[in-house]
Amino acid sequence: MNVYDSARMADVLRPLGYSPVDLPDNADMIILNTCHIRERAAEKVFSELGRLRQIREARKLEGKETLIAVAGCVAQAEGKELLARAPYVDLVLGPQTYHRLPEMVARIARAGGSVIDTDFPVESKFDLLPEEAAPQNEGNLTAFLTIQEGCDKFCSFCVVPYTRGAETSRPVASILAEAERLVASGVKEITLLGQNVNAFHGDWNGGTASLPELAALLHEKIPALKRLRYITSHPRDMEQALIDAHRDNPIFMPYLHLPVQSGSDKVLKAMNRGHTADEYREIISRLREARPDIALTSDFIVGHPGETDEDFEATMQLVRDVRFASAYSFKYSQRPGTPAAGQPFQVAEDVKEKRLAALQALLREQQDAFNASLVGTVQDVLVTGLGRKPGQLNGRSPYLQPVHFEGDPSQIGQIVKVRITAPFTNSLGGHLHEQEGTAI
Ligand code: SAH
Ligand code: SF4
Repeated sequence: MNVYDSARMADVLRPLGYSPVDLPDNADMIILNTCHIRERAAEKVFSELGRLRQIREARKLEGKETLIAVAGCVAQAEGKELLARAPYVDLVLGPQTYHRLPEMVARIARAGGSVIDTDFPVESKFDLLPEEAAPQNEGNLTAFLTIQEGCDKFCSFCVVPYTRGAETSRPVASILAEAERLVASGVKEITLLGQNVNAFHGDWNGGTASLPELAALLHEKIPALKRLRYITSHPRDMEQALIDAHRDNPIFMPYLHLPVQSGSDKVLKAMNRGHTADEYREIISRLREARPDIALTSDFIVGHPGETDEDFEATMQLVRDVRFASAYSFKYSQRPGTPAAGQPFQVAEDVKEKRLAALQALLREQQDAFNASLVGTVQDVLVTGLGRKPGQLNGRSPYLQPVHFEGDPSQIGQIVKVRITAPFTNSLGGHLHEQEGTAI
């Protein structure tokens, strides 16, 4: 979502004469868009700010001014401390106020000093942002689109409800309009974004539309949109209608990121996740029933307060039972202000490390097995650009894997059939499946 937000900040600043540059060294304004989810991400902000200060000093010697802004969730959570620790920062703004950037920049130009805006405004930024520029990633063929923000679930470990605010959905009409513009600019694949994207319920036709209903509208109204993904979902909101849509809506990719965090019922309860490990297994089997070729990915936290060896073993067992195509796994990180941070029975660092290594080894094995299982199959690949070697093209499989194969540059932007021949660590090799030609 920060990638999406950064692009929207560039949109907001464009009318003021700003446009993105490749390096901070020659920028008139530098915005650090930050993440607060784990301590490591938050700490990085301060080391990065030290570097930006040097850039600012160097530019000053050349008689140039540099505005430094800190945006995102670290700004939201630690705005005041941030200004105290790094007084050279000009602007501090949270994730819900970046539509006000022009006003903040004008205030600094007028009065100098620093400006901080970490409100949760009554107005929605989405109603006030200018139209987005064409996406910059993967040859403009894939794009993110935020449809839902914030969270009311208050998991014990998580800062999101405090930094992104309450759960809200964008109205369907505004999402359709943005999707239409993206597709008109060449986008073939959209990833719908939200902290709880499957809790989506955006205003539509005097009522609200759910995520499967929104997906059906996107498919019906925008025929040139070929692929749809969504991230991140919560198991509790994985309703049957959405599971059925994976079978019925052809633009849904056979791929789902569904974080489970732990396989122990005791830890899931302490985390306030609102479901058991078996309920998760049951959702997975319904998904596989609806869409047998679906690949699953997940997030895991090891070392939540109170997690014993037995609890961790339950997580390993869940992973063995489900078999994931890939996953993210993290050591529990104590976040200020969250319920888990103050709990007794914090798990020792070396225990967390051991558990993380064991879990990651198992997940790696499963990812390798999944990649190997695709060898010999023919996959639809969205051709995204030229490969590194001459004659080579890069693409994206239905499972988000990069795929390399020989082809003609005129195929960029098409979905082609590729026979997978080689699994690499994080990508696949293959060759064009001539007989069936291109899919579109
Ligand atoms: N809304 C999603 C997750 C959003 S946060 C969900 O409910 O599943 C993204 C991921 O960061 C989480 O899935 C979790 O694995 C990880 N995470 C969040 N807070 C964390 C913490 N305090 N320590 C370690 N990992 C954390
Ligand atoms: Fe955080 Fe996700 Fe839980 Fe919300 S549902 S509190 S975003 S982990």
